[in-house]
Amino acid sequence: MGRLLVIGCGGVAQVAIQKCAQNNKVFTEMCLASRTVSKCDALKEKLEKQGCPVKITTATVNADDVKDLVKLIKEYQPDAVLNVALPYQDLTIMDACLECKVDYIDTANYEPEDTDEPVWRAAYEKRCKEKGFTAYFDYSYQWAYMDKFKEAGITGLLGTGFDPGVTSVFVAYAKKHYFDEIHTVDILDCNGGDHGYAFATNFNPEINLREVSANGSYWEDGHWVETKPMEIKRVYDFDKVGQKDMYLLHHEEIEALGRNFPEIKRIRFFMTFGQSYLDHMRCLEDVGMLSTSPINFEGKEIVPIQFLKALLPDPASLGPRTVGKTNIGCIFTGVKDGKEKTLYIYNVCDHQECYKELGSQAISYTTGVPAMIGTALVMSGQWKKPGVYTTDEFDPDPYMEMLNEFGLPWVVDENPVLVD
Ligand code: NDP
Repeated sequence: MGRLLVIGCGGVAQVAIQKCAQNNKVFTEMCLASRTVSKCDALKEKLEKQGCPVKITTATVNADDVKDLVKLIKEYQPDAVLNVALPYQDLTIMDACLECKVDYIDTANYEPEDTDEPVWRAAYEKRCKEKGFTAYFDYSYQWAYMDKFKEAGITGLLGTGFDPGVTSVFVAYAKKHYFDEIHTVDILDCNGGDHGYAFATNFNPEINLREVSANGSYWEDGHWVETKPMEIKRVYDFDKVGQKDMYLLHHEEIEALGRNFPEIKRIRFFMTFGQSYLDHMRCLEDVGMLSTSPINFEGKEIVPIQFLKALLPDPASLGPRTVGKTNIGCIFTGVKDGKEKTLYIYNVCDHQECYKELGSQAISYTTGVPAMIGTALVMSGQWKKPGVYTTDEFDPDPYMEMLNEFGLPWVVDENPVLVD
């Protein structure tokens, strides 16, 4: 018997919620809460029409406001809170979970909405100098909750999407079953899907464009090496997708893996992009449309990237028109029983099959399924451990089994082509 409060009802949340409904041994009751409650009501109606056995209620919540969150949590009394709103709300939701002593799960690490806020900015600039990477997000804000979560006896599971999330579980699984020592990890995220628009993003445009337009970086010999955006390009032939251009990005799981697996000498992350996406992004950036700093427009303050988000297609609406497949996974090199070894673990997911099953495209699907899995493992007690952890810090086996069971089967290739 488990009662879950889900915060957010966008593209990822809608998959996570529908997958929780399929796993009704663990999730028996759910409250869907978001800023726009009509999205929660529509999903509740869809699930009820399908005869979903989970008891569903809905609520309006402002997840930027700890008091509002605490009020809702106290009223609903959930066993866990799944945050599938935006990274901006991570800390307010963690604070509310702490106050109410309820387990917390999310899919993306904290970044502030306002990157000009002076206190945050000063800490950010210090961190850029000390750590050597300039992304707006880092784990320090959430790792700072470790002792408070331990004292409260609650679990915080951070970043249980696909990347981060599944990719980090792949690392733990490779280490447990295939390697005595892992030396390098290349995380490859390929989206071979086509939605027919000249330009659209597959998840929240603001978060996506902030990530992709930032400097790249990778982890080597215990420190960060930073690159210009899209400076490092490789071409890779992906199973079931074909040959694609991919570019090195900074990505959040590198930070946790670098800390938790000090034996790994190099960790890189590559994502595929088509030329049209890159041309549009560069043009938007050149004219200032990706800026997160407010400007005054005809007497009203607007943030350019938020205005752009309003113009772009809602990622949750891309499902019916996206065709093709994603292929996301990790290539490892290392040593087993004194011999050098390579390994590739990956999942291939088809956009149209996701649409047929749940009405969403594969990016929301590949994030929402692991969000459900991580939540189920915390709620069932298998991944319950007071403190704040990423997915590579638990036993990977039950997670890997659930990926197969809930629509994201994975493949192990013991002779992969490596990335140079
Ligand atoms: P969407 O923009 O589609 O959905 C966000 C949802 O959160 C919306 O329902 C929105 O409400 C709600 N929301 C936003 N602000 C608030 C607030 N202050 N109070 C209450 N609700 C709020 O985003 P996605 O579904 O694309 O992404 C969700 C999360 O998943 C993000 O954190 C993203 O970074 C993460 N992600 C993780 C990936 C991974 O592999 N780890 C991959 C892709 C995404 P409204 O409807 O009113 O806008």
